[in-house]
Amino acid sequence: MSLLKLKRLHGKKNVMKRINNIMANSNPIDFKKNRLKLRLHLIPSSAFYSNLRKEIGPEKWSNISRKIRGDNNFKCMFCGWKENRSKQEYTHCHEVWKFNKETKVQFLKGFECLCPMCHAVHHWGYSQVRGEDMEALFVHAVYVNKCTIKDFKNHIKKSFKVWRRRSAIKWSLDLNKYSKMVFGK
Ligand SMILES: [Zn+2]
Repeated sequence: MSLLKLKRLHGKKNVMKRINNIMANSNPIDFKKNRLKLRLHLIPSSAFYSNLRKEIGPEKWSNISRKIRGDNNFKCMFCGWKENRSKQEYTHCHEVWKFNKETKVQFLKGFECLCPMCHAVHHWGYSQVRGEDMEALFVHAVYVNKCTIKDFKNHIKKSFKVWRRRSAIKWSLDLNKYSKMVFGK
């Protein structure tokens, strides 16, 4: 499903209204105490093609995806959006990686069940390249995080700074945790 379609589903006007209400009643986020709930998960350019799906193949990946999504009742962990199979609107399974700059290891921390919009926020850079509606994604992220526009702009800026640093590193992949978790071995 396209993001444009999702934008319509979310009702951009209502979302903007709700954001304005939230912003009128909230203070900027104190980043020392609170982390944003829905963040950018930029994959370093040096690790663009390292992922679990590639390692295990589409069939096994599809089983994992279904299990993770089923465990979350096919609802987005961040915004609560629920998939609607009759309309072919599905949740996504997202791999969460930890990048350790000391060991240069890209470590699979776990999985998230997400709606296409929250997933597109995680992959902000890729969404830009794909020509997604970045304004709609920005609005969605601010709404989900209940933060200010400035908060999220700062988060984007910092995330790309980290991304540039990480992209200069050649990462090795660690899927150990995943194998224990998914197959129960
Ligand atoms: Zn969502």
